[in-house]
This record gives sequence, structure tokens and C-alpha cells, in this order.
Amino acid sequence: MECYECKKRIKEFLNDSMKSKTCVEFIDHVRSCDECYEELSIEFLVNEGLKRLDNATSFDLESELKNKINKSYSKARFYKTFIVICSITIAIVAFLLGLFLSTLFGY
Ligand SMILES: [Zn+2]
Repeated sequence: MECYECKKRIKEFLNDSMKSKTCVEFIDHVRSCDECYEELSIEFLVNEGLKRLDNATSFDLESELKNKINKSYSKARFYKTFIVICSITIAIVAFLLGLFLSTLFGY
């Protein structure tokens, strides 16, 4: 993923509205690019900070962001793998069904 696309998608990530495939690419990029990570943490701090202005309890937003990244990453990785396994299973089932039908009708 390019920096330009990464920065464009920060809000999407913070709203949890990102697709798994994009999410893995996004996090891979953010982890390897200081500039985009910086941008993400600023957006996160502003977003969460504003939400919690009324809340007197102290919070550690930096580690919360790291948590969010880690959680989103494992979730996205899981769904991505899950989707691949599903697609393979469907392909195999379709193949076997085709085989079965062709033997059934003698084609
Ligand atoms: Zn970048």
C-alpha cells in the first residue's frame, strides 16, 4: 500500500469499517512507515481524546492504539485466511459436483 492510500484510509480504520484484505495491507504499511504511523496516532489521539473529554479517568491512548492495531491485525488475518479456505473449499466442492454430475449423465 502506498502512503497516499494509507493516509486516505486512516478514518476507515479508526471506524472499524475496513475490509480484512485492506486492513492487513494497511497495518503492514503503518508498521513499516513512521510517517503514516505518526499520522494514524495523531488522528487516533484527536478522535479518542475528544470522545473522552468528559471522562475524568486517565487513559493511555498510545498503548490503546497499539492494542487496536494488534487486534485488528489478527482479526483481519483470521478473516483473510478464512475467506481463502472457504474459496478453496467451494472450488473443490464445485469440482467434485461437476465430476459427479458428469459421471452420472455419462458425459
Ligand atoms: Zn507511509
